[in-house]
Amino acid sequence: MEHHRHDVVVVGAGIAGLYAAMKAGESADVGVLSKVYPTRSHSGAAQGGSAAALGNEGEDSWEYHLYDTVRGGDFLGDQDAQELLVKEAIPVTYEMEHLGLPFSRTPEGKIAQRPFGGHFSKFGKGPVKRSCYVADRSGHAQLHLLYEQSLKQGVRFYNEFLVTSLIIEGGVCRGLVALEIRTGNLHAFWARAVMLATGGYARAWRVTSNSHANTGDGLPLVAKAGVPLEDMEFVQFHPTGLYPHGILVSEAARGEGGYLFNGEGVRFMEKYAASKMELAPRDVVSRAEQTEIDEGRGIDGGEYLNLDLTHLGADAILERLPQIHELVVKFAAVDCTKKPIPIQPTAHYSMGGIPTDLDTRVLLDGKKQVVEGLYASGECACVSNHGANRLGTNSTMEAAVFGRRGGIAMAKFVRGAGPILPGDERDTAAAEEEIEALRSRTGRESAKVIRAELQASMTENVGIFRTAEKLQKQVKFMQTLKERFKEVGVSDGSRAFNTELTELIELGGMLDFSEIISVSALARQESRGAHSRKDYPKRDDVQWLRHTLAFREADGSIRLDYKPVVINRFQPEERKY
Ligand SMILES: Cc1cc2nc3c(=O)[nH]c(=O)nc-3n(C[C@H](O)[C@H](O)[C@H](O)COP(=O)(O)OP(=O)(O)OC[C@H]3O[C@@H](n4cnc5c(N)ncnc54)[C@H](O)[C@@H]3O)c2cc1C
Repeated sequence: MEHHRHDVVVVGAGIAGLYAAMKAGESADVGVLSKVYPTRSHSGAAQGGSAAALGNEGEDSWEYHLYDTVRGGDFLGDQDAQELLVKEAIPVTYEMEHLGLPFSRTPEGKIAQRPFGGHFSKFGKGPVKRSCYVADRSGHAQLHLLYEQSLKQGVRFYNEFLVTSLIIEGGVCRGLVALEIRTGNLHAFWARAVMLATGGYARAWRVTSNSHANTGDGLPLVAKAGVPLEDMEFVQFHPTGLYPHGILVSEAARGEGGYLFNGEGVRFMEKYAASKMELAPRDVVSRAEQTEIDEGRGIDGGEYLNLDLTHLGADAILERLPQIHELVVKFAAVDCTKKPIPIQPTAHYSMGGIPTDLDTRVLLDGKKQVVEGLYASGECACVSNHGANRLGTNSTMEAAVFGRRGGIAMAKFVRGAGPILPGDERDTAAAEEEIEALRSRTGRESAKVIRAELQASMTENVGIFRTAEKLQKQVKFMQTLKERFKEVGVSDGSRAFNTELTELIELGGMLDFSEIISVSALARQESRGAHSRKDYPKRDDVQWLRHTLAFREADGSIRLDYKPVVINRFQPEERKY
């Protein structure tokens, strides 16, 4: 096994990982591992932009942004973290501008801003333009900027390396083991600080906006070390996934003025959110859509609705939403300047994840105790910016703000910490054995079939609307899938680019956290944000205004604990749009 040493090792090259690497790289020696080439990370698919209350196109303030984020998250977000997000969003936007991000501009040359769902001015009252964007290629531009700037800082990249284990001993993270996909060789990385920035996990659903790499790999890595996963029941379904596969049509399409119609030609949002209509938060719009579909008012009675942009005019569509136009032509053979786009809700974003403090340090007990040297940021983490439901454009901003905070915190930590303590074969033996055992499996089950069954059952049982009956069914089914997983064989004996092996590793992790999602969702007997229980339709602040912490015990069972929500500014109120 080849051994490497860096002060800081970052796992993941999306916006969170690259921002952390760039910042830490100013003073520390940094290595970044990514299972896909950095600029292919899912952040590059973000179209709509990143929220910051610059007030370039009308009155705005961070207080308004904070209020929207708190209310959008149905009061489950930690308000100290949310305050940091909305305040730091402003200087972080200017930092990216000064580093060269080619923002779209207003006629007078300021950073242009567009409206997005759930964002308002004057504490929920007026409209606001808050999303800073680069046409509809915002994430792509950020990713390229941060990659180039990380290279400039001398950050070393290990591309197409799949991290399979963390090495944590006595509450201290010392490094990790990764599989080099190109050669099939294992590598050990020793570091003073390790950051997980492994992104989201909506690939556990059949209809999803997420790229193939979004298999949530970071979560099982920490769960195995005894770290709980926080608020995993909160999974966002985006209202406009292209029918039938769920590829994302950005909310920018509604931000720019798109309408939603049902099969009767009615703008049905009138019934569900009369004042905010299509720009209500995503959980509200997705539930409205699913209700229309379930009650037979889909287009031609089917499983989809229409998103109509035609009234915006071809010029506006081609100038502000060029990627959406192209994507809809290519994947649905529809020209959206002339015809409405067929859409349906699609699994999109994970609000929950690895619990961290405000400096992105991972919390061993989910509450106060940190794992020394281990950090997490971006979509895989849960500092609890988004509570029970994320507002559009707050996520790339979270990845930037908290990736940046983490990078600075790690650089400071490694300055004060002792030398890197490289280990030897004894430390990596377990990780190596695990991979070798997978390689030599001869069972008859197929990973592809199990993955498809997982995705179909999560869509059916852990979708937009949930019930105890469906969730219990899923919890039980997870046991069956996990048993069958043990019988999956690997027929490809080659070492180079053995995708059968890498997909098997990913599937093992997906089964692990999908069970945690199902158990956490079954326990939460209320409806809040994206977690909507038909059998408990109301939000219950007395019982459930608290975060879920799900621990994977040594015997494989899941233990649930809870912790209070940080509420220091806005008290819970009824959420009406
Ligand atoms: C289609 C789409 C559009 C979106 N649009 C917007 C938007 O307009 N605005 C907004 O705010 N948010 C948007 N979001 C959400 C937002 O883009 C993501 O939440 C955010 O970019 C996640 O960034 P990240 O750095 O946490 O992870 P990612 O960008 O997903 O990167 C994860 C990284 O981890 C690496 N990785 C994962 N597992 C391993 C492993 N085992 N070993 C090594 N490397 C690993 C991957 O290679 C990758 O580099 C969108 C999401 C999607 C899917």
